[in-house]
Amino acid sequence: MTAIDRSAIHGSRRVVVKVGSSSISGDAAHRIDTIVEAIARAHERGTEIVLVSSGAIATAIPFLDLGGRPNDLATQQAAAAVGQNVLMWRYQTSLDRFRILAGQVLLTAGDLENTTHRSNARRAMERLLGLRILPIVNENDTVATHEIRFGDNDRLAALVAQLIGADALVLLSDIDTLYTKPPSEPGAEPIRHVAYGDDLGGFEFGSVVVNSVGTGGAATKVSAARLATAAGIGVLVTSADLVDAALSGDDIGTWFAPNPEPAAAPVTGPVRTVGEAVAADRLGA
Ligand code: GLU
Repeated sequence: MTAIDRSAIHGSRRVVVKVGSSSISGDAAHRIDTIVEAIARAHERGTEIVLVSSGAIATAIPFLDLGGRPNDLATQQAAAAVGQNVLMWRYQTSLDRFRILAGQVLLTAGDLENTTHRSNARRAMERLLGLRILPIVNENDTVATHEIRFGDNDRLAALVAQLIGADALVLLSDIDTLYTKPPSEPGAEPIRHVAYGDDLGGFEFGSVVVNSVGTGGAATKVSAARLATAAGIGVLVTSADLVDAALSGDDIGTWFAPNPEPAAAPVTGPVRTVGEAVAADRLGA
């Protein structure tokens, strides 16, 4: 059931959690444990979680002796290929404590707009969740570079949330809540609740200002929240350190209330079982 307020995240059936590179790489790599512990608790309660995680490039930097983030796209992609492997290993090592298996899912936003790819991705994710496996999604940087260029796995997370019919989307950031202005400026107010259909002009203004002082990410979070809420999925934006409180439904962060009357989901055709798909492939369907 769609979470109509943040407290309902606790009892949700299915939640997408998205975390960005800076929260889980370099000196912050220890936070993988914090995130995994919160996910394991929710998993134990019966909530199905899908984790959308960036961080492949950032994780690779020390392994490739790059001395910093590479500037050219090909090296960034190569770094992502190396770092994705290490990142998954770190997640799995942490998940081992709870006997949870991770499944790597590399997607592009374009995949989710293509009917066949979308249906394939949905079937695979449904099966992973049915097997109680934690799907960990990142952009497939070998064939798509949207996130590398725009730093925007938030959008992919919103699309994944729609794909699997999530009840809520939790976007983790480095700030505990969105603010009307940069938090350091006088008069900055936390934005606690955004009703569906609220005029987002003010928030866009806030986002641009926040970005210009380098707190970053607010603009893509607001636009991902617009995408998800339009589809009837409530969105919580808060800091990665508060992930356990977020999944427990605590009164934290910025809550974007979902559209109470979302349009019907786009027609993507029925999800075939693996057996049906194999049979169809044999027949060339
Ligand atoms: N998907 C890439 C990663 O996980 C891109 C992130 C970035 O540009 O920092 O590393």
